[in-house]
Amino acid sequence: MIKLENVTKTYEDGTMAVDSINFEVQQGEFFVLIGPSGCGKTTTLKMMNRLIPISDGTIYIDGKKISDYNIHELRWNIGYVLQQIALFPHMTIEENIAIVPELKKWSQEKIKHRVTELLEMVGLDPETYRDRKPSELSGGEQQRIGVVRALAADPDIILMDEPFSALDPISREKLQDDMIALQKNIKKTIVFVTHDMQEAIKLADRICLMKDGKMIQLGTPEEIQQNP
Ligand code: ADP
Ligand code: ADP
Repeated sequence: MIKLENVTKTYEDGTMAVDSINFEVQQGEFFVLIGPSGCGKTTTLKMMNRLIPISDGTIYIDGKKISDYNIHELRWNIGYVLQQIALFPHMTIEENIAIVPELKKWSQEKIKHRVTELLEMVGLDPETYRDRKPSELSGGEQQRIGVVRALAADPDIILMDEPFSALDPISREKLQDDMIALQKNIKKTIVFVTHDMQEAIKLADRICLMKDGKMIQLGTPEEIQQNP
């Protein structure tokens, strides 16, 4: 599904953020990238949907180099959830969720139906929430919108960059449970970045441990816990 081959990133100032990493993420897998701040997790994620260029090595999605994809085709098939949920403040919740479906020219009826389904999926009453503005939602509710927005147009892959780190512990736990339930239903390929080992163990099928731009361990949560 996703394959990284000797992927390296050196920023313009000479920082080698990612140093020749290799891994494969299987279809439907919940894959967690973990490691201390500055170890290259976000850089790795950003290269996967071409937010930043790769310096060396190759990333493949479904056997095709990401550089060979049409950029819209690539981005529309990859949902991205940021740490700082960037909902558009002047747009309603429905409009925020509908951004990619609109770009894909879905019918208004199909969009409305999809928004209803997504809000229900994360326990927010569609009729109460669809016409609200982001500022009328709590932090945890906004984060849930950030998650379902990434799912809206049914992408094959979802990249998530510390999506819950800004939340209080209770909201975080609730959203982690939502993620586990969601993953059971939707069976998407998810690459999830965190620096929280408890979160990684709770969510992951496999964990990739990074340090100083290198991959230092790869395995199931059980394997990682046995060889700390
Ligand atoms: P993480 O997500 O694990 O915290 P990052 O991928 O954000 O790590 O950063 C990896 C390294 O690359 C860090 O040393 C960081 O300071 C550096 N870095 C990140 N973005 C840039 C950039 N745009 N220019 C230069 N260095 C960067
Ligand atoms: P994270 O929360 O993943 O660690 P950061 O706070 O390190 O992210 O980075 C936030 C933004 O700043 C990112 O877009 C990253 O590319 C950029 N950035 C990080 N480190 C540097 C750096 N040393 N020089 C320039 N930009 C950087």
